[in-house]
Amino acid sequence: MAVLEIITAPDPILKKKAQSVELVDDNIREIMDNMLETMYHDKGVGLAANQVGISKRIIVMDLQDEDEVERPEGFYPLFMANPTITDCSKEMIEATEACLSVPDQKIVVSRHVSVKIKYLDYNNESKELESDGWLARAIQHETDHLEGKLLLDYLSPLKKNVAIRKLTKLKKFSA
Ligand SMILES: [Zn+2]
Repeated sequence: MAVLEIITAPDPILKKKAQSVELVDDNIREIMDNMLETMYHDKGVGLAANQVGISKRIIVMDLQDEDEVERPEGFYPLFMANPTITDCSKEMIEATEACLSVPDQKIVVSRHVSVKIKYLDYNNESKELESDGWLARAIQHETDHLEGKLLLDYLSPLKKNVAIRKLTKLKKFSA
């Protein structure tokens, strides 16, 4: 396994819609493993493949410490290829989110309280999962990434410009 470099905004790959995975094979599993190691290394709870420069519809998540629900052993980490939200609650809820690709920003986002998702798991098996709480929020955050949507896109145009300027400066200093 390897820790990959996390791509931060503004970078065009983060704005690009990711491509579907045909089959979860050893190549895809290797990407999943590396993504998970990168996520743990950078202390995130979720990561989408385009955040490490791979434009494929893959996400990994581990909300062990945040989850309000008692999960069966082995539930986490979650590996998902082609995650698709198939149903969601009308009810929305606001909370503050952070993103490894948008450093030093905390942004309030309104999300569906609960979502149902289908995906291919680590073994290429088709799975369905109903979720609420932080897991539902994380799923919506990560599937946004696959559509090329970032936390910044939830800001007003003015606030977004300010945030992008800050991020660009941050990049210059860390380059
Ligand atoms: Zn993110």
